[in-house]
Amino acid sequence: MTKKVLIAGFNGAMGQKAVNLVNQMAGYEVAAGLSPVAKNEPEKYHLAKNIPIFTSLEQIPDRVADFWIDFTTPKAVYENVKFALTHHICPIVGTTGMSDAQEAELVELSKQEKVGGLIAPNFGMSAVLLMKFAQEAAKYFPDVEIIEMHHADKKDAPSGTALSTAKLIAQNRPNHQTAPDEIETLKNVRGGDYQGIKIHSVRLPGYIAHEQVLFGGPGEALTIRQDSFDRGSFMGGVKVALEKVDQLHELVIGLENIL
Ligand code: NAP
Repeated sequence: MTKKVLIAGFNGAMGQKAVNLVNQMAGYEVAAGLSPVAKNEPEKYHLAKNIPIFTSLEQIPDRVADFWIDFTTPKAVYENVKFALTHHICPIVGTTGMSDAQEAELVELSKQEKVGGLIAPNFGMSAVLLMKFAQEAAKYFPDVEIIEMHHADKKDAPSGTALSTAKLIAQNRPNHQTAPDEIETLKNVRGGDYQGIKIHSVRLPGYIAHEQVLFGGPGEALTIRQDSFDRGSFMGGVKVALEKVDQLHELVIGLENIL
């Protein structure tokens, strides 16, 4: 039977890539779109003529889809995923910006509802590998800073990937502050701080999504860098999620945990 997919944020940059992916996947179809101000013009967004476009959660009927792909906004994502879980639709969430507490609540809800799903701060293989390598390097280099660079329209900072990288690094190194006596003469010039790991967020037109993790040690340095040059690069991870999450019994965080 064809598996049905609702795409939240179908009209956005990532949502359109997801529409294209599902349109090309045998055995899957886009069954609905959700976006607050989208006009009912499915063909404009590469959807079939008869596909319903909803502008609010209240309009969505039961059993509309098997999967919920979410590429929306930090403000919308928590309520969207809650709705998907309570309606037994498997969420595949690329939207970043949820707090740890919100993610933990959703994982708990998914267990109660026995619904599988995935929250992935990054669906790109290069970013997944960067996080893995950075976590390993942190055992040997406790002095580390992260620089993430994104397009100027990105709404949240730091990026979900940078924060996840910091969390993974923090698991593998003692809590440690590089340059503890520094004084900032320009506010926030040293960036954000996650357990002593500085995170710097760059927003510029022309960029898509990029991250560098810089480790320093006596007389040497190690830099790990990944670049996403095209949003299509995230779709390999979304495809894997579509093929796997309905076999899970809870919401999993991180693409690496379902590969
Ligand atoms: P975008 O182009 O701004 O798209 C967001 C879309 O969501 C817009 O079309 C917006 O509609 C729609 N939207 C806003 N509120 C909504 C709601 N309540 N319900 C449904 N749709 C809603 O942004 P993007 O570049 O596609 O990125 C979307 C998200 O994905 C961001 O959080 C970004 O950080 C994340 N992202 C994740 C990955 C990953 O690998 N996990 C990769 C890239 C990006 P309007 O335009 O009409 O407001």
